[in-house]
Amino acid sequence: MKRSIYGLTFEQLTNWLIDHGEKKFHSKQVWDWLYQKRVTDFSQMKNVNQSCIDLLQQHFTIETLSEEIKQESKDGTVKFLFKLHDGNVIETVLMRFNYGLSVCVTTQVGCNIGCSFCASGILRKNRDLTSGEIVEQIMQVQQHLDSQGKDERVSHIVVMGIGEPFDNYENLIDFLKVVNDKKGLSIGARHITVSTSGIAPKMYEFADEGIQINLALSIHAPNNELRTKIMKINRAYPLEKLMPAIDYYLEKTNRRITFEYILLKDVNDHKKEAEQLADLLKDKRHLSYVNLIPYNPVADHPYERSEKEAILTFYQTLMDRGIKCGVRTEHGTDIDAACGQLRSKQIEKEKARKKKKIQTN
Ligand code: SAH
Ligand code: SF4
Repeated sequence: MKRSIYGLTFEQLTNWLIDHGEKKFHSKQVWDWLYQKRVTDFSQMKNVNQSCIDLLQQHFTIETLSEEIKQESKDGTVKFLFKLHDGNVIETVLMRFNYGLSVCVTTQVGCNIGCSFCASGILRKNRDLTSGEIVEQIMQVQQHLDSQGKDERVSHIVVMGIGEPFDNYENLIDFLKVVNDKKGLSIGARHITVSTSGIAPKMYEFADEGIQINLALSIHAPNNELRTKIMKINRAYPLEKLMPAIDYYLEKTNRRITFEYILLKDVNDHKKEAEQLADLLKDKRHLSYVNLIPYNPVADHPYERSEKEAILTFYQTLMDRGIKCGVRTEHGTDIDAACGQLRSKQIEKEKARKKKKIQTN
């Protein structure tokens, strides 16, 4: 299988071309065709000389994802289910906000972190996505927008789809470099957010990258006992390891950090947990923002969405203690747009179909 050219940073492509006897300036041309004109075939790169095109064609592909399903919600959310070259399926979501168009990307096929509330965690990780497969999700969404002829651009990215991005660190970083590069899609670092379940050592590494990309930590509980119950990763990286990692990130970057908190009815949504969370974040409240997430029920999971009143009390308790927070508005609930839901439904359907086939044979 040839590599996807989308996976190479500008520097990597330039070095690759030089190593293969081509002129350095071709990388600028190739990137222009890929990311400004957005062609999907090397032969369309008109001003690039034939020997360079032949070479690229020999070693790389441009498109490797095929669109299996595209669902559009009433609120403008578009959900894509893509098939990878090896038959695996992943999902990508386009959301419309008043500040722009945001794409939620997947980084792995499944996820090994196995959080108890998450649809992606049920299906263990099959493999990491390559940097090219992550970039291509953005390109496919951009091409969908191009085809509508409204001159719309993807302006924001959230790395919050299936998978734990810090468990696929190098590919994540290459992806971020490609989409952020001024010569390419030029999506501003401040418009990109990476969400992690809290792989502490990688949080240090991320802080040291010297990029202005936003970090979100899925905290979901204010104490170890509760956090371990709902996220088993907390055994490896409990709060006493996470908090210093956050302090380091804040010190290094001086950027605000988002804490994601899924509200699970009668599990972590009491006033007492809001108070504990406020205490935990007290010394960094000037650089903290808590995103309260109404739980999206997942089939066969034991949790329910918190009552409206509990959500409001939680919110008010944090605000009263000087912790900035908000309740996440939902997008595309009519089309299974929550993390991993469309994909897991599709896999269930596929299993049922195969079972039926075996029975009828
Ligand atoms: N693995 C990373 C990023 C992907 S999950 C992480 O865990 O942060 C992105 C966000 O979606 C996380 O905050 C996650 O906890 C949340 N999420 C997962 N399942 C959900 C569900 N059923 N309802 C609402 N949010 C969910
Ligand atoms: Fe993986 Fe994130 Fe889902 Fe946890 S919430 S299982 S880390 S994708």
